[in-house]
Amino acid sequence: MADYICMECKYEGPARKSKRGSKKLEVIGWMMFPFGLPYTIWRMVTKIKVCKHCGGQSLLPLSSDAGKRLSEIARQELTGGKTLITAKEKADTVPKPSAPLTPPPPRRAPSEDPGTW
Ligand SMILES: [Zn+2]
Repeated sequence: MADYICMECKYEGPARKSKRGSKKLEVIGWMMFPFGLPYTIWRMVTKIKVCKHCGGQSLLPLSSDAGKRLSEIARQELTGGKTLITAKEKADTVPKPSAPLTPPPPRRAPSEDPGTW
């Protein structure tokens, strides 16, 4: 059976199946006979997976990419791992050598000498 990870409490393990809707409505539906039947069928069909630990409905399958990532994050939180040190600070301290841009010398148009003629 596939395991799930809870997005709310980071619980990992098999999910608990829970029926949607309320028992109360089902009973009321059955008292007004024809309505109870489709409601009961709907509840049986639309079973949802909930967290065994907190009852949350935001479960991700551990086999999925998102589930794996969440599991990794949860593990890092548990171990208090501060392994994720970004190189941002380092990049900020490195001074950028600013090369002064010297404008190219203006091109002088070849002066025509009318006196040579
Ligand atoms: Zn949970």
